[in-house]
Amino acid sequence: MRATPILPAPAPADRPRSFGRRRAGCLIAVHLLIAAHIVHWRLAGRTLAPLELNEVVYTLELGILTAGFVFMVLITLSVLLFGRFFCSWGCHILALQDLCAWLLEKVHIRPKPVRSRAMLLTPLGVMGLMFLWPTAQRLLAGEPLPTWRVMRPEDPWGSFVTDDFWRNLPGPWIAGLTFLICGFVIVYALGSRSFCRYGCPYGAVFGLMDRLAPGRIVARGDCSQCGACTAACQSHIRVHSELTVFGRVVDPQCLKDLDCVAACPEGAIGYGIAAPALFASWKRGAVRRPRADYSWGEELAIAAIIVLGVLIFRGLYDALPLLLSVALATLLAWIALTTWRVIGGVPVRAVRLTLARQGAVTLAGWGWLTGAFMVLLLTLHSASMRLHEVALNRAYDATEQALARGDEPAAERHAATGVGHALALHRWGLIRPDGLLLRTASLLEWTPHPRLAEPFLRELIDRGAHEPEARLRLAALLARDRRSAQAIEQLELARRLIPAMPRETGERYQQRLDQVAAMIADTPEYSPGGGAG
Ligand code: SF4
Ligand code: SF4
Repeated sequence: MRATPILPAPAPADRPRSFGRRRAGCLIAVHLLIAAHIVHWRLAGRTLAPLELNEVVYTLELGILTAGFVFMVLITLSVLLFGRFFCSWGCHILALQDLCAWLLEKVHIRPKPVRSRAMLLTPLGVMGLMFLWPTAQRLLAGEPLPTWRVMRPEDPWGSFVTDDFWRNLPGPWIAGLTFLICGFVIVYALGSRSFCRYGCPYGAVFGLMDRLAPGRIVARGDCSQCGACTAACQSHIRVHSELTVFGRVVDPQCLKDLDCVAACPEGAIGYGIAAPALFASWKRGAVRRPRADYSWGEELAIAAIIVLGVLIFRGLYDALPLLLSVALATLLAWIALTTWRVIGGVPVRAVRLTLARQGAVTLAGWGWLTGAFMVLLLTLHSASMRLHEVALNRAYDATEQALARGDEPAAERHAATGVGHALALHRWGLIRPDGLLLRTASLLEWTPHPRLAEPFLRELIDRGAHEPEARLRLAALLARDRRSAQAIEQLELARRLIPAMPRETGERYQQRLDQVAAMIADTPEYSPGGGAG
């Protein structure tokens, strides 16, 4: 296999010892650009729509062309030509993972990579769920595919310019938790770059494209088989073996960070043009790879736990996004399998601790079992909360459909069922999200006891959430309850919020406001000028 190096081999003295500093500089610049983008939005009130890759889903599902979709297409094209440079030089999740690995290295910890075939398939599954399933679902239901359209800046989902920069981004707590789990915990538990390998659906797309890319890490000199490149590779690729067998790195997990190029004492590695890898990495036995850590039976159990975990965690408390759920489910599978081995007395080490040896559980093992028991309880609790959430959402939809048909008895029945699930969530849930408060209030409004919705709406208002929706609903409730002075007060507060809203949203709320004002005017206690009897 002949490869064409793009650059001639540098003399040993000219060779960088590492590309780490340049890459760190590049990743810091990415974060500074993100910060500048946010500052621009805060100052100008309108800015370039976020270059957030998950907005691809909105293009595929709703047909709204988004800046995130265009960005994804551009990155994919770049990977198709040059390989996965974006991943190691531009991705903020990778930056966190490498930062974590670097910090651990500073304290002489190099997490042992966990090798699982089921985990390796997870990103492909998530990719299918995010990018293919919505379209497949439509086609199966015989529905037409959405027509792609460009939205104006004033629209709630402006395609390229938006007033609502945070429209699809998580709040600070969930963002922090995502960074902690996907950037740090998973690296410590499963090895460096394990989120890229075991969780990232974008990485799955880029991995497929990388197989077709002519830009590759190539052999360009005599290799002494010292293995320095393999030792330097944070993606756990057997670089020296691949270069010997294929003349290039064919593993699609190669993120083109160039660490192997810098590490080679012979200057025998470079970046250049070579035949695409296609399926070379699948050739059995061509490159000796480390064995998987799990038997096929265990791999099946891992796959089942990951699927179950995603079903439990995704959307839990209206909060957990898909990628965080995938990371949590993967960690759950790893904890479950490790625990299974500890209980079975199999000698097992995890996170640098010996948990069991020769049929006996060690002290660290008992600590592990205690922690695993807590994780089990938390998971069961989360599963039961998720079931209540799903039932609540179903009841909510059924109530709305019954109301649309004008079937009030059915609406009341569904609303009562929904309230039961909502109250269980209020009582037992660890978090009471804003959406839960709003849905509870809505369902209660459709029961024979609408007054019970008032404390939920007031709590929303105290939190400053769902404005002016919560105030308008409260005003309507108060008007129905003949407390027109209080209703007018809420209405006026809602009115003040409308000018700051995007035009079409503001117009929609203005109509609602006029309807509630008419309701208040119809109450016998109402007297023009704000007084009430
Ligand atoms: S695989 Fe995903 S998380 Fe990893 S660097 Fe690429 S885009 Fe980022
Ligand atoms: S093979 Fe080389 S360029 Fe690719 S990830 Fe490993 S060290 Fe980085």
